[in-house]
Amino acid sequence: MTCKVIQQNNYMCGRLTYQNEERCHIHIRKWIQMRLEALGIIKKYPRKIGEIESGLNLIRSTDPNYKDKYGYNIIHKGVLASNINLIQQGIKIGVDVNGSLILKNILHCIL
Ligand SMILES: [Zn+2]
Repeated sequence: MTCKVIQQNNYMCGRLTYQNEERCHIHIRKWIQMRLEALGIIKKYPRKIGEIESGLNLIRSTDPNYKDKYGYNIIHKGVLASNINLIQQGIKIGVDVNGSLILKNILHCIL
């Protein structure tokens, strides 16, 4: 999959996405900074891979709107990995499962 960020010249970025994310390794940096700011977490602009990874981990575990390029959020990941802690973390941060029948059914079975 490729990055769908529209650039200043009105072209879609089109670079390969960074791992399982929706954005490429360039556009994900600015996005991480903006998401963390929106969550009230102020961090410097992530430049190194380690900074990108830690920023992403922070967003995955605190942003209820986070999903990867496959549309999976923290609860999906928890279900796929049979990891109750991830699922509970997802519920704690308020991931919206109302829109997803599949998630609702899964949660009904687990909880
Ligand atoms: Zn991009």
